[in-house]
Amino acid sequence: MTGRDSNGGDDTDNTGATVRLRDGIEIELSDGTTVVADANRPNGDINVLSHAHGDHLYDDPPDGMICSALTAALAESRREDAGALARGTSPEIELHEAGHVAGSRAAEITDPDSGRTYCYTGDISTRSRSYLTGFEPPEADVLVTETTYGSPEYVFPEQAEIEAEIVDWLDETANRPVLLFGYSLGRAQKLQLLAREADRTRLLVSKAIDRINEVIEAFVDVSFDAERSGPDTELEAGDALVLPSGTNNLAFVDSIVEETGALKAGFSGWAVNEAFRYRGDYDATFPLSDHCDFAELEGVVKAIDPEIVYTHHGFADEFAAHCTSLGYEARTLKRNQTALGDF
Ligand SMILES: [Zn+2]
Repeated sequence: MTGRDSNGGDDTDNTGATVRLRDGIEIELSDGTTVVADANRPNGDINVLSHAHGDHLYDDPPDGMICSALTAALAESRREDAGALARGTSPEIELHEAGHVAGSRAAEITDPDSGRTYCYTGDISTRSRSYLTGFEPPEADVLVTETTYGSPEYVFPEQAEIEAEIVDWLDETANRPVLLFGYSLGRAQKLQLLAREADRTRLLVSKAIDRINEVIEAFVDVSFDAERSGPDTELEAGDALVLPSGTNNLAFVDSIVEETGALKAGFSGWAVNEAFRYRGDYDATFPLSDHCDFAELEGVVKAIDPEIVYTHHGFADEFAAHCTSLGYEARTLKRNQTALGDF
């Protein structure tokens, strides 16, 4: 049995453990030990970093951060503080491949006193693709899951189908340059590998993406073979240039399009919805995602079969309600709802 506290934001169960969304996710074990995951200012007794995306990354690294070696290297590269991150281990924490981006891990946490187990997913994808192994859910009593696409309208096509469509489009448009927009860590690397499969002459990337490529190449048996583009690069028909998402509406992109007739393509799970194309002013969009879709999230819940599901990110309320309809106890973690005892 689990009791909801009067504030509704965090939960203390009958073992004395608590799950909260504060700066990152905080799980307080029954002996008072705090496990903090993906905080800006990690201050737990045990600190976990699931992956090196900006919204999960620390400002200043604590000692003994628990993460994969590749995530540590990517984090240091993004924060430009090489050597600053001291990794640690803890008997309470076991990391599992999360299948989201290079280096990403989910954390399985065991309460040493009660034996209760927690699965904190970070961001996950159950699809194995390129050099990533899909997330295989461990058994756990408590599931704390991301729910970015936790709404039934977000069900993606098969991975092979999406990838074939992208390669076909790259071939069909090979008489023009293309600008491909995706997160610097994650989508950008998959887009390079797909552009290599297509009939394109040159593959170019921005400086930020090139730096991330280098870190991944040092850890993973993969080679992106992309040229770094610069201000002097002249884009020609047949070229594919991969740029960080978020730059698609910037002036420099408009001038490239004007000068070269380049086509713009966006890649995201949000592409399931037509609005993604209009908002991003893209010529083409594809639902290439590094997250679970709705059906895959449901599959994770059923595979873990926890006593309680905590949801956060994206469609957290909607997915919690869905878990309840499946017969699970489920709750949304809301930020800044803290118990009186915290002050
Ligand atoms: Zn992420």
